[in-house]
Amino acid sequence: MKILILNAGSSSLKYQLFEFPGKKVLVSGLIEKIGETSGRVKHKLTTSGDSVEYEIQVPNHQIALEEVASLLLKGENAVVQDTSEIEAVGHRVVHGAEKFSAPTLIHSEDMLEELRNLSYLAPLHNPANITGIEVSMRVFQNAKQIAVFDTAFHQTLPSHVYRYAIPNALYTEHGLRAYGFHGTSHQYVAREGAEFLGMDPGRFNAISIHLGNGCSMTAVKEGKSVDTSMGLTPMGGLIMGSRPGDFDPSLILFLAKTLKMDLGEVDNLLNKKSGLKGLAGENDLREILKRYDNNHPLAQLAIHMYIYRIRKYIGAYAVVLGKVDALIFTAGVGENSAFIREGVCKDLDILGIKLDQQLNSANTKTTREIQQADSRVKVLVVPTNEELEIANETVKLLV
Ligand code: ADP
Repeated sequence: MKILILNAGSSSLKYQLFEFPGKKVLVSGLIEKIGETSGRVKHKLTTSGDSVEYEIQVPNHQIALEEVASLLLKGENAVVQDTSEIEAVGHRVVHGAEKFSAPTLIHSEDMLEELRNLSYLAPLHNPANITGIEVSMRVFQNAKQIAVFDTAFHQTLPSHVYRYAIPNALYTEHGLRAYGFHGTSHQYVAREGAEFLGMDPGRFNAISIHLGNGCSMTAVKEGKSVDTSMGLTPMGGLIMGSRPGDFDPSLILFLAKTLKMDLGEVDNLLNKKSGLKGLAGENDLREILKRYDNNHPLAQLAIHMYIYRIRKYIGAYAVVLGKVDALIFTAGVGENSAFIREGVCKDLDILGIKLDQQLNSANTKTTREIQQADSRVKVLVVPTNEELEIANETVKLLV
């Protein structure tokens, strides 16, 4: 069974073709700069390692997906003889609100309309995700189209966690509450972590720390999300590449009233110019770490704030969970930066967390334990794989 996974952004389209059973990745690729004068295609045959990269004009997502289809069919490197061999297309959709609490087969215009109606909650992401589904319905007409939502894993949050202390009508009439994001990643690493330790995922308590460009943490109790750091949108919680995480919301009033910024400027400032970028002028953590090593004061401040915020959430989630089986680090920073992991875990004996320096410094790409032998809480590095998790969820709906 061949399953295509699509992650459509506003000007990009990421894809992977899986073969089930076996969960083998046949191809993976990325089309960037959709809608610009010159687009970029990167396509890799995972089985042989062969890859191609070229520039081509890609005016819209329809053309981008047609390009993907032709690459899958092309010449001696063809992975399908006919696009009808693709049984399902699994789509990453960022926001499912309360309506979509599980992966969903999208089979009608009415369902697409229901999805479109949620775009006001994620205007930067959902419209592109929906375009991906629309064009996929045309290009892969025989395939089932399945939407997998970043918010779905967090639909188990209790109401006292997801509600904001604002007038009730804003929740009942407009759905303003915390939803949480990176759910596919947190779900995947929590299950992988439990299985790696030989524990039942349904009895596993973990604090999952996803540190990529976007950063979030989730308290996972008995396999379910019970609290998470992002809220209505992916802006709250931890300090991220270009988003601020938690701050006093009255700051927005100051920007608007006193500095006379319009809402577009405020939006841009908070989504694109804040976080590490706002503090140290860079959103790539590797660059900031280089400056940190050169004693650059703003880089040092940014790193201290970044680590401090994660530690604060660990403290909070330890209380939420009561018993913590594992702390899990994942995504670009979480998987690769021994320095950040060390800073996060420093002096946490009080919570039963004791990192082993040597195990932490080893650089492998597989799931591993990095705690000392007498650490009550396991500390794991689990490489995330959101595409595989979307494929797993897609297949579950087919059988
Ligand atoms: P995205 O959220 O875009 O999927 P990733 O999970 O790929 O992001 O993470 C990107 C972040 O990971 C960047 O800030 C990058 O600097 C950081 N990163 C990648 N490798 C390392 C490393 N070896 N040390 C520190 N940070 C790293």
